[in-house]
Amino acid sequence: MKTVWLIDIDGTVSDDIPNETPELFATAKPIPGSLEYVQNLVDKGDRVVFFTARTDEHASVTESWLIKHGYPFEYVVYNKPRIEDGWVYHWVDNRDVKATHVPAGLLGPEFWNK
Ligand SMILES: [Mg+2]
Repeated sequence: MKTVWLIDIDGTVSDDIPNETPELFATAKPIPGSLEYVQNLVDKGDRVVFFTARTDEHASVTESWLIKHGYPFEYVVYNKPRIEDGWVYHWVDNRDVKATHVPAGLLGPEFWNK
């Protein structure tokens, strides 16, 4: 099934940097395996859009970081509502929806094939 992936950035493909310290965005480290995982999605024909609680003012540093590290993507959706521990995102749609919680980040094929 062809899939449009909405992928979080902080703590999912990069170090988890809060919006309060945007000066750290540029030097965040990618989560090992996440690049390979995202590239594989695109290689098999899926679409990738990043969906982040970073705000519009972080667009330049965010997209520069994604490009610098080689992540393929169509665009970035900013201003995802921020939530606290104990809250959950719940998406309601008339189209098919899947969601995957990756508490340690998007770790790549070895993790996903377990
Ligand atoms: Mg996150």
